[in-house]
Amino acid sequence: MKHPHSAKHAYHRLERREFIVSAVATGFALALRPIWAQTTTHGAGVNIGTDETSARNDKQDAAGPQSQQAPGIVSLFLCGDVMTGRGIDQILPHPGSPVLFEGYMKNAIGYVELAEEVNGPIPKPVEFSYIWGDALAELDRRKPDIRIVNLETAVTRSNDAEDKAVNYRMHPGNIPCITAAKIDCCTLANNHVLDWGYPGLAETLKTLKQANIKTTGAGHNIQEARAPAVIAVSRKGRVLVFSFGSETSGIPWSWAAAPDRPGVNLLPDLSAGTIRDIGNSIEQVKLEGDIAIASIHWGSNWGYEVPRGQREFAHRLIDEANVDIVHGHSSHHVKGIEVYKGKLILHGCGDFLNDYEGISGHETYRGDLVLMYFVSTDPSSGNLISLDMTAMQIKHFRLYRASEEDARWLKNVLKREGEKFGTSVELGADNTLMLRWVV
Ligand SMILES: [Zn+2]
Repeated sequence: MKHPHSAKHAYHRLERREFIVSAVATGFALALRPIWAQTTTHGAGVNIGTDETSARNDKQDAAGPQSQQAPGIVSLFLCGDVMTGRGIDQILPHPGSPVLFEGYMKNAIGYVELAEEVNGPIPKPVEFSYIWGDALAELDRRKPDIRIVNLETAVTRSNDAEDKAVNYRMHPGNIPCITAAKIDCCTLANNHVLDWGYPGLAETLKTLKQANIKTTGAGHNIQEARAPAVIAVSRKGRVLVFSFGSETSGIPWSWAAAPDRPGVNLLPDLSAGTIRDIGNSIEQVKLEGDIAIASIHWGSNWGYEVPRGQREFAHRLIDEANVDIVHGHSSHHVKGIEVYKGKLILHGCGDFLNDYEGISGHETYRGDLVLMYFVSTDPSSGNLISLDMTAMQIKHFRLYRASEEDARWLKNVLKREGEKFGTSVELGADNTLMLRWVV
């Protein structure tokens, strides 16, 4: 799909506006204050900043990761699509069959070769942890309570290929590449989990379960596909992850789970009735102090636009279904971020790991630049306390810390795309992108 912003599109510099960095854990509203009155600290008060105050914020953010471990604050690592199938599967210790049924590419090794043509040789086989690269050190440093990814591949030896343009699979023997990053939960309501039929889905669920990774969004029947992943956070409460797929992300209607049919938790539509159903299922599980995440695979692969219907759906999830965080994904690049009534909406997290580096055609989106989202939330209100993002670059099928120039590029995209949502982003220490928003 053609997107509205060409490479030449000049992003708008925000006017000299003041943004609330973070609301206090108790969630009470504070008036905007002039930037020179800024005195409070990260995660424990209000920071108001513009680009001009970045230097001062750098100092505060040096203490950011520690503050995310503060008692009473639940910290999460979120990211977009983790696509460890196909080319990536081929460089891991247990590559599956490389046979593909794509129109152009018939062998998954072809994607490794394309990447090598662009960025040089990739060692084979790599260690399981290789793909996470510099992200592992960042996870160690940040120590989020919970780590959640959208796993966008079947994990299977199945040869039962669905009749579609692209089929992703990772050999079950490569599942240690997911546990290497201590991932707690994989959302599965996406357009690749059933690429290798029901046998492929069954093996995916079994493999993840055996690896002690919680799943949600796909199952042997609709009850299982709808059931949230419930993750206890020691002495802090629970995180409930609900995973939904939308047909706008390319999920075929035939993949919808039913009472007697395996499949994904496919949203029938974005209507009030659907919101009511989701609200009912959340009400059955959610207790005081729980944080409810709606993880939604929706929208097209390319394009910054957030359709009005999606945005309204996100708002209604918060207003009417008791959702605290909307974790959107599907686009291959980051999209704008919104804070609605204190709650975080990530409209599109972008990819996180994929085998696309040898594929040309959408360079202006810089799909190689990805983000680790570190979310601090107040479990008593579900409100966002802070969102820091660490910029990474996919190269050699692994993650590297992005350069300052590339981190700045991502910051500018998020500023440009967040303007209509009332959010902005500043660059802090270690090229950390810090969300600012107006309350
Ligand atoms: Zn997808």
